[in-house]
Amino acid sequence: MSSLREQLCEYGRRAVELGLVIGTSGNLSVREGNLVAVTPSGAALDRLTPEMCPIVDVEGYLVEGDLQPSSETPMHLAVYETTDARAIVHTHSVFGTIVATTMTELPPVHYNALLLGGVVKVAEYATYGTPELAANVRAAMEGKKAALMANHGGVTVGATLEEAFEATRLLEWLCEVYVRGLSVGKPAILTDEQLNAVVERALNPPAFPRRL
Ligand SMILES: [Zn+2]
Repeated sequence: MSSLREQLCEYGRRAVELGLVIGTSGNLSVREGNLVAVTPSGAALDRLTPEMCPIVDVEGYLVEGDLQPSSETPMHLAVYETTDARAIVHTHSVFGTIVATTMTELPPVHYNALLLGGVVKVAEYATYGTPELAANVRAAMEGKKAALMANHGGVTVGATLEEAFEATRLLEWLCEVYVRGLSVGKPAILTDEQLNAVVERALNPPAFPRRL
């Protein structure tokens, strides 16, 4: 688990550097077997040391660490319970939070939304850290790699922490494109047909003919 705790420190620093979180907001976790290393409650993500990161089991019992796990740990555990995710990133990034505060879903305005599962749903509002919020996020995340949390922020999953982190960057980018697009005009939404064509293209990339 020590390398997983180091990963939390590394991606915590990157999240702060990229402006995805400020202060002590946001939390990350990574799972191995029945254990989950998670960022601690009340600590700035760019000042973590591996020892500061608690380890809990999937049932929510503290296994190791002096600090309390992030208050959003129940949400992480709820998502782990019903998905094959191995890492989760939650931030209060600006554009994600704007969309989560004004809309019920992020429509696919760019084909890269498919990397997150297409439309990103906004989980219904509930107080942070509660089982209600955990259940709402789990429902919004079904079949997807990302969800937004009403009046709160965003959450992404991945097979690795790197993957979950990149999904968070992509989610924020998609939200930024949409929000900034609204100031220029009405963003066009990709149709199911257009999105299906993207999937088809990705599955069957044409090979360049080799010049002999
Ligand atoms: Zn939060």
